[in-house]
Amino acid sequence: MKKLKYDVVVVGGRIGGSVSSLFASKNKANVLMIEKMQEIGTPVQCAGGVTDEVFKTLQMKPSDCHVTSRIEGADVYVPDGRRVRVADEKTKGYILERKMFDKHLAIESAKAGTDIMVKTRFKDLIMREGKVCGVVAEYLGETVEVEADLVIAADGVESTLARKAGLNMVKIPEKIFSCAQYEVVGLDVPSNWLKFYFGEQVAPGGYAWIFPKGDKVANVGLGVRGTKETAYTHLKRFVSRVDATPVELNVGGIPVSGPVDKTFADGLLVVGDAAGQVDPLTGGGIRITAVCGRIAGEIAAEAVKTGNASEKFLKRYEDIWKEKIGKNLVMSLKYRKVLDTLTDEDMNRLGKFAEEHDVMSISKISALKFVGKNPHLLRLLKEIL
Ligand SMILES: Cc1cc2nc3c(=O)[nH]c(=O)nc-3n(C[C@H](O)[C@H](O)[C@H](O)COP(=O)(O)OP(=O)(O)OC[C@H]3O[C@@H](n4cnc5c(N)ncnc54)[C@H](O)[C@@H]3O)c2cc1C
Repeated sequence: MKKLKYDVVVVGGRIGGSVSSLFASKNKANVLMIEKMQEIGTPVQCAGGVTDEVFKTLQMKPSDCHVTSRIEGADVYVPDGRRVRVADEKTKGYILERKMFDKHLAIESAKAGTDIMVKTRFKDLIMREGKVCGVVAEYLGETVEVEADLVIAADGVESTLARKAGLNMVKIPEKIFSCAQYEVVGLDVPSNWLKFYFGEQVAPGGYAWIFPKGDKVANVGLGVRGTKETAYTHLKRFVSRVDATPVELNVGGIPVSGPVDKTFADGLLVVGDAAGQVDPLTGGGIRITAVCGRIAGEIAAEAVKTGNASEKFLKRYEDIWKEKIGKNLVMSLKYRKVLDTLTDEDMNRLGKFAEEHDVMSISKISALKFVGKNPHLLRLLKEIL
């Protein structure tokens, strides 16, 4: 058996893992990141849509190597086909080539000093007196024991690590978007505009998307919940509307029930999808994971420096991420719960109202008038307020 010793071991090598490793290494911790796949960033489980904020958090500039297109706004289609156009500073962003972006982050992390082992699968935790002290992993059939002051779990929605440490990570299947996506070629859509489609026929409990990557290439996908048919069946139906050729199929789940109850323990931090750090309304997790991964990396390095990876010290990770993004997640969860109660008819009415007004500047008075005419939507307003 191979034995290793690091300050910090990070499990999972995509955005949560690489960002945590990067900022822990930048802050002088001795870091090992392990990833079960043979190549970081694959298989892709993402449409790659991000706002400008991501690059600010990562202290990086967008590059042609990992960005396919610049996004200026979005069209939202309600079930009757009505279109609502949304465009402001907050909707500006990019489509990432996740394979390249995740690999780029891992490379930056390695340049900052992180050691990386691919094809290395987390198997178990090393625990002493209730404290996490490292991991047992398997590399090409060989067992590897890694002792560490602190472990960061960034092993995604199917995380097993945090549960082994006794944290309650139960994610109810109905609260997970089940997603399927094709990368297609030959779709003639503007390269700077996202498209979202709502409705029971298209994507029950979720929505469908077209994210353009330029040059008639696009990610076309959808997320559904509580359906008899699989996301893939819905996707095939949705894609049959367009004349385009798939060159890649991606499937995956997104936790949309809000963050888990606790994201730290003695010697452990939990980051990204593993911690449910995803916007419950949109299912977007890249920016939030980047924010939380950065905080986790910085706190981990501080814990190593001060020789204190106790639960009491690590609580500050949760305090900081909640202060930065907690309120937004709570609001998004409220919107999600409201959206879940809307029928196709409700959405059509809202679409009509938005079409008749400039959606980016709807006044409170016109919103109240609208609710007055549609009293059953009053609950929506009450919830949001
Ligand atoms: C179809 C789809 C489309 C999406 N589109 C968007 C979007 O457009 N914009 C957006 O912001 N978000 C999007 N998301 C969400 C986003 O992809 C995630 O929130 C984000 O990738 C979370 O990053 P993560 O590092 O926490 O987890 P993951 O990206 O899931 O990475 C976890 C890593 O851990 C590794 N791992 C797991 N178990 C082990 C183990 N036992 N040992 C070692 N390694 C292990 C995995 O191989 C993986 O590499 C989408 C998700 C899906 C499924």
